[in-house]
Amino acid sequence: MIKKYYLLSPGPTPVPENVLAAAAEPIIHHRTPEFSKIFMEATEALKLVFGTKEDVYILTSSGSGAMEAAVVNLFSPGDKVLSINAGKFGERWGNICKAYGVDNKETVVEWGRDFTKEQLEAELKAAPGTKAVLCQLSETSTGAIFDIQGFGEVVSRSDAILVVDGISGTGATPCPMDDWKVDVMVSGSQKSFMIPPGLAYIAVGPKAWKLVETAKCPRFYFDLKKARKNLANKTTPWTPAVSLVIQQKKALDIIQALGLERLFAHHRILGDAARAGAKGLGLELLAERPGNILTAVKTPAGVDGGKIVKTMQGKYMAYIAGAQDPHKGEFFRIAHLGYMGGFDIITALSALEMTLADLGYAFEAGSGVRAAQAVLKENWQ
Ligand SMILES: *Cc1c(COP(=O)(O)O)cnc(C)c1O
Repeated sequence: MIKKYYLLSPGPTPVPENVLAAAAEPIIHHRTPEFSKIFMEATEALKLVFGTKEDVYILTSSGSGAMEAAVVNLFSPGDKVLSINAGKFGERWGNICKAYGVDNKETVVEWGRDFTKEQLEAELKAAPGTKAVLCQLSETSTGAIFDIQGFGEVVSRSDAILVVDGISGTGATPCPMDDWKVDVMVSGSQKSFMIPPGLAYIAVGPKAWKLVETAKCPRFYFDLKKARKNLANKTTPWTPAVSLVIQQKKALDIIQALGLERLFAHHRILGDAARAGAKGLGLELLAERPGNILTAVKTPAGVDGGKIVKTMQGKYMAYIAGAQDPHKGEFFRIAHLGYMGGFDIITALSALEMTLADLGYAFEAGSGVRAAQAVLKENWQ
């Protein structure tokens, strides 16, 4: 058969056809009124998605670059911070802090478990002098989302700031930065923003800018003061990824035409369908508080989890994601963010059913697809 490739991973995600085509346009110079116009329109649209009046800085890097930008611009070596490590990306906050000598107290949460605002309040009380709380909106390694609104309430009552990694969550699930009292939010281009990898975004609120003024961590490329100065002149300190910015503007046009409410409803419907499909197959979800970004499904007893992912990807070309270390094989992840439609969920579940049948798992054929179809049909809009 022709090996048709189905990208069903939580980043990178599929890119709309007109956005892909925009990358083939001739390169324009970045210090021109023509590029500045597109760049500023993209920046304005990003502010709407972030739910903030603050500027959103477009950085040329993958999402982790914006995480590093947050740490180096906000802190000095020895500063006390608190990070929530509920998976691979929460762990990354800790690793970045360590690299820059920031004194991070890490709260380890079992993968898939929730972490409440009450727990955060207790952690903060026990760690006086904490300058910041670092967490994820959506922990992409487990599919869990967190109560950022609640975290904002708790942290805003203290001297600390709240730094949220929204790299997979922003634009797929609500997190209005200003309303929810998020001081710094970062995101990336290849998840819900519907363009290829290569851009990262960061917005900084007033309480956090105060830290930027005194922070002493070494930095050069990711210096947000330079970014702020240049943005005032409608430009960037360094050569931006011109094509990606143009693509992002086009993808943001799609997002704005749909509107945030409908965009979130879209993700909710796909999430509901994916969860219904998994349950229809008698499978269990990993996350206690699953988000509508991706669905992590536990490997059923008696089946080799590594083989599920290998068969899905290798045989059926349905590129779902496996579990990351140290939980490899224990679950797999079906994405439903960005430019994905209802039938992407059906494709994923159909390939999953064929895979599970190959691997000898006993279930009623079609039960996952049928359950997902029912949700999609009921909610189609
Ligand atoms: C993808 C992701 C990252 C890392 O982004 P890169 O673009 O791979 O650097 C960080 N945090 C979360 C929540 C993510 O989903």
